[in-house]
Amino acid sequence: MTPARQTTRPAPPPGLATALQYVKGVGPHRAKLLEKKGLVTVEDALFFLPIRHEDRTRLTPLRGIQVGQVVTCAGTIAGISPPPPGRARVPLVLLLRDASGYGTATLFGRGWLTRVLQRGQKLVLHGKGARFKDKVTLQVQDWELVESDDDEPIHAGALVPIYSTTEGLTQRPLRSLMWRLVEAFAGDVAETLPEPLRRRRQLAPLPEALRGAHFPPSERELAAAHRRLAFEDFVLLQLGLAILRARTTRARGIALNPAGALVGRLRRTLPWALTAAQERVWEEIRRDMAAPYPMHRLLQGDVGSGKTIVATLAVLTAIEAGYQAAVMAPTEILAEQHVMTLSRLLEPLGVPVTLLTSALKGRQRTARRAAVAAGEIGCVVGTHALVQEAVEFRKLGLVVVDEQHRFGVAQRARLKAKGEHPDVLVMTATPIPRTLALTLYGDLDVSVLDELPPGRQPVVTKARPESSRAQIYAFLREQVATGRQIYVVYPLIEESEAIDLKAATDMARRLQHEVFADRVVGLLHGRLPFEAKDEIMQRFKAGEIHVLVSTTVIEVGIDVPNASVMLIEHAERFGLSQLHQLRGRVGRGPWKSYCILLTSGRLGEEAERRVQAMVDTTDGFRIAEVDLQLRGPGEFFGTRQSGLPEFRVADLLHDAALLEEARRDALAIVAADGDLRAPEHRGLRAALLARWRGKLALASVG
Ligand code: ADP
Ligand code: MG
Repeated sequence: MTPARQTTRPAPPPGLATALQYVKGVGPHRAKLLEKKGLVTVEDALFFLPIRHEDRTRLTPLRGIQVGQVVTCAGTIAGISPPPPGRARVPLVLLLRDASGYGTATLFGRGWLTRVLQRGQKLVLHGKGARFKDKVTLQVQDWELVESDDDEPIHAGALVPIYSTTEGLTQRPLRSLMWRLVEAFAGDVAETLPEPLRRRRQLAPLPEALRGAHFPPSERELAAAHRRLAFEDFVLLQLGLAILRARTTRARGIALNPAGALVGRLRRTLPWALTAAQERVWEEIRRDMAAPYPMHRLLQGDVGSGKTIVATLAVLTAIEAGYQAAVMAPTEILAEQHVMTLSRLLEPLGVPVTLLTSALKGRQRTARRAAVAAGEIGCVVGTHALVQEAVEFRKLGLVVVDEQHRFGVAQRARLKAKGEHPDVLVMTATPIPRTLALTLYGDLDVSVLDELPPGRQPVVTKARPESSRAQIYAFLREQVATGRQIYVVYPLIEESEAIDLKAATDMARRLQHEVFADRVVGLLHGRLPFEAKDEIMQRFKAGEIHVLVSTTVIEVGIDVPNASVMLIEHAERFGLSQLHQLRGRVGRGPWKSYCILLTSGRLGEEAERRVQAMVDTTDGFRIAEVDLQLRGPGEFFGTRQSGLPEFRVADLLHDAALLEEARRDALAIVAADGDLRAPEHRGLRAALLARWRGKLALASVG
């Protein structure tokens, strides 16, 4: 490389876009480490917020240090005894003096400090009280030289930020770098929120909030900074959702408003009347479908609340209006179950139902697709295959999506694109607290089935160890003797599917020979062909099979009111919502029902809490709350698959009230300025586009 070339190297971009590598004291090596954390530019670093802060403001007198306590002290160096050369295991010991008297501080592996520290210097130190050579000493984790009174302490004697570190990049130099960046650049960050909004909600300007989020002078400033940044997270989410929603309501949809003959005929064949909640929800859906806008509605109802029948009425309405309906399920098994249920309800009315999954191969698949494309089939049930593959509908009028939380915004959008803005009904059994539903479903209207069909009794739930097995079997035999049926469920984990399947098979055989020799034990698992599964289910429904051993095939949707016991093997391996769904398979008839959670070995803390939550409550809302606490919002909502932008600081659990405020503001902003073209919305618009990364296609309108 010639010197001439070096001088022609392009100048680093100025300000926030500056690559960290060019920041003084960083250089290529450290820049690589920062890049591992996703930090390339100065701006990236400014938004790299601490994971927490440690309060190192309360000073403990040197004489008050106690073994085991984490404390911050301040003192003047009265003596330094360095470790002998070559003996790295021996600490550097400082003799310190403060108003209370003398104390010592020990620093391991930092012999080089002998060259930095001098007697008479004032230090703030943070660490843990420990015993060293029979004396109480402060084992130092972090320290800071206090040069003069107006020098800002950043490592000790303050609310000290703790960042997520990485191999080769330790807390202290990272914190120093962050301090310099915040000092130099936070002021350059452009405001995103409109001034009037900030004033009304009393939110700090963005640069101030950033400073406060990194190096807050007090808890109050830290809280204010958090509030401001969380609000921004929420407002950007809600703005995006509001824009998506405004677009659907403005779009021309199909008015599906038939006389209702098919719905009437189905309702007359039902052995029971709809509950008041089902009537109300059905009316909301019917009105949406009749309107000339695309319906975009979420139907939320706990397990067993009767969502299927409501969805079926919607399907019939679309078909009577001359359109096709698509029902999407997250798994093949669920799709198969929906086909069974829907065929039973619809085929007597002369409405053909078909299944389209990726398991379907060859000629059969081609033929079914052709029938769908020709419009010969009114109701198509399927998995993601419906979305991902080139399935053509002749006239798609309604899309029903079951178990929404496993489906993303993007997938929903793709399916909608297959029709001319068909109506969309999304169903979920996860009862999400309302405020939280607004985050994931902010672009949907919500209907809630908040009533179970009459005569349901809460399922008695017990946790039992392996040693109770004999007793449990005796109880199962009693139940079968009184005419009831039983589910025994085995966990099936994909990684060990073969082993698990063998365990379930062995269990079925043992139950048949050793426990229920005079009864019929059936085995159901996902590897069976559709026809075989269907046959076993039909026989169980008909009461010909008394005990059904199953892998989680039956998790959702199965409905056999005569079954009164759900025995769950290895209950500790199931997720909480899964357990709740499984329990929902019993307690559907007039008989007292039981859910027995068999666990083996010592349970981990989380498994213990899941099992306990099941024993404590049958309330789906409570269960969902605990589930949310245990798994955290990201996992719970499956935000990774949802296509929603990530939050920088907002916490769905703790900032829920703020979310409501942000939602109201976002709706008002979109109502007034749908494409955010007004000059005062310039900051918001830029931030929105960056967060949603093209998913909003805002650029196309402005
Ligand atoms: P989920 O909401 O979990 O999908 P289902 O639709 O499977 O619930 O309904 C649960 C059970 O309740 C089914 O057996 C269904 O036939 C029955 N059911 C639905 N609505 C009513 C009602 N209004 N009265 C009595 N039973 C009902
Ligand atoms: Mg269901």
